[in-house]
Amino acid sequence: MLAGIIFKRCNRIIFICFILIGFQTPNLLRGQSLERIEPPHWYTGMQNPHLQLMVYGNDIGLLIPEIKYDGLQITDVHTTENPNYLFIDLQLSKDIKPGSFDILLRGSKGAKVRHRYELKKRKKNAAARTTFSNKDVVYLITPDRFVNGDSSNDSIKGMKEGINRNDESGRHGGDLKGIIDNLDYIQDMGFTALWLNPVTESDQPKYSYHGYATTDYYKIDPRYGSNKDYVNLSKLAKEKGIGLIMDMIANHCSHEHWWMSDLPTNDWINYQNQKYQETNHSKYTLLDPHAAEIDREIMTHGWFVPRMPDLNQNNKFLATYLIQNSIWWIEYADLYGIRQDTYSYPFKQFMSDWTCAIDREYPGFKIVGEEWVNDPSVISYWQKGKMNPDGYTSCLQSVVDFPLSMALTQALTEEESWDSGLIKLYESLAQDYHYPDANNLLVMADNHDMSRIFQQLNQDIEYFKIALTYILTTRGIPQIYYGTEILMDHPASNSHGSIRSDFPGGWKKDSINAFTNKGLSDNQLEIKHWLKELLQWRKNNDVIHNGQLTHYAPKDGVYVYFRYDTEKILMFIINKNKQETELALSRFIKFVQPETSATNLFSKEKFKLDSRIRLSGKSITCLELDN
Ligand code: CA
Repeated sequence: MLAGIIFKRCNRIIFICFILIGFQTPNLLRGQSLERIEPPHWYTGMQNPHLQLMVYGNDIGLLIPEIKYDGLQITDVHTTENPNYLFIDLQLSKDIKPGSFDILLRGSKGAKVRHRYELKKRKKNAAARTTFSNKDVVYLITPDRFVNGDSSNDSIKGMKEGINRNDESGRHGGDLKGIIDNLDYIQDMGFTALWLNPVTESDQPKYSYHGYATTDYYKIDPRYGSNKDYVNLSKLAKEKGIGLIMDMIANHCSHEHWWMSDLPTNDWINYQNQKYQETNHSKYTLLDPHAAEIDREIMTHGWFVPRMPDLNQNNKFLATYLIQNSIWWIEYADLYGIRQDTYSYPFKQFMSDWTCAIDREYPGFKIVGEEWVNDPSVISYWQKGKMNPDGYTSCLQSVVDFPLSMALTQALTEEESWDSGLIKLYESLAQDYHYPDANNLLVMADNHDMSRIFQQLNQDIEYFKIALTYILTTRGIPQIYYGTEILMDHPASNSHGSIRSDFPGGWKKDSINAFTNKGLSDNQLEIKHWLKELLQWRKNNDVIHNGQLTHYAPKDGVYVYFRYDTEKILMFIINKNKQETELALSRFIKFVQPETSATNLFSKEKFKLDSRIRLSGKSITCLELDN
């Protein structure tokens, strides 16, 4: 149609149109057009000299690519059953210089499409970047629900869902600007890493705010901001000692993803053009030597929900696409880590390839995988270094410790007995023998998918303090969900929308403001100050980051554990009993010798430990021993 308009006008102003056509007709008159090339740019100086470009546009697969650039060579070109795609394999020489060049796509009848492509310089020392570790405490934010820093992006013209704060499943307007504006708050609290639920584009007609249904893997959702805003967040956070962890999803995309209306191959999606099949969520089938093949297949091939098509990572083009996409974001946004959603649902060989490709490019760079199972024998299967009976290995360093999280709530809510209460926490930690590296597990009391911990503990503030202290002093890398610092809960409903409710003070007319403390209750204020002190204290205590842990079987509602190294011995005593309790110390002779002096870590009170210690009801006593 546009070509027709140009042709009519050309009858009148022939000369001008000649120039116009020379400039842009190849796309218009011959039918070929280029809509996107991904990755949108790449980097020189990468370990892997190969790059595969996915080129998309009308009949683009009928064209032959040409590139003239020193150090760059086209090694292969792939077409698929869909003529609108072309996959170009490139090899970059070791000494290739950064710069830009034309990718010329030429057809047999003189059709030409041109695209300017850039190779940027890789950041200095990019390979040896810092990554999250036991020193960190990760603050998890649901970005739509934290702070609305820019109301002009609340609804974006052309995007399917706009703002509706009255709908708990709708978009509430939180954005990257809101997080950037409050980095001081996050730093001041003592958090050192930031994990945001996915912020890549999720242009769904409804229920898009959670971000787990991606519609563009290379674009930040404009309702959160731009790609540049994301890079800026990473940079400004880093200046404050806060690293950015990106949430990624390799298992599925959105049914509204741009490629869903014109898929590159006939096997891009599992059960493509077949009857809908939901996953059975049977993670055991991936390990189970007796599993029926069909159950295993449905676990991996099945979809999460009808709105989230399940990606077939066995397709080599898609596998390369996803690997390059992750590496691109690490380099582009200077990431501190990756959190991978639904870790066990994609094809497991792909997850091994994906983690190891990232590890080759960024040795030691940490990825944490979500495997929501209450069984360390299953979770540990995925961790790097695990000797699995079936020989499966990967480069995944960290896994979320769901069993410990569930055990923590049971420990503090169940009646004490030989098989319930604190023993659950003890036995969960005891199962660290499954893990090749338990110190690298992500530990948490709750997250965006679970009831908030204050809710789980029936709004009991003393048990809440015990739970948080435990998370921050046990082995592993702690993660805390936004709002935990002000006791956020949801007594009326356990819905996701209630769990992920707006952070008070994040919206202009909020009557309560957690940033300024306006309107916070005494309990909220107390917890905020208490948690801040604990987080700041944890920062500088290497014994918590890397020390050893010994725990003693719980007895009479009391559970004791020690963290220690050659410099320090810390003793933590959980008294679950409502009443004041006396604890005999003779069992702990390895750490507590007669006349040991102890300093309370927070009150700084110093005293001699004799044969017994008195514990307040529902408390955790934190001591540094001076042997
Ligand atoms: Ca906004």
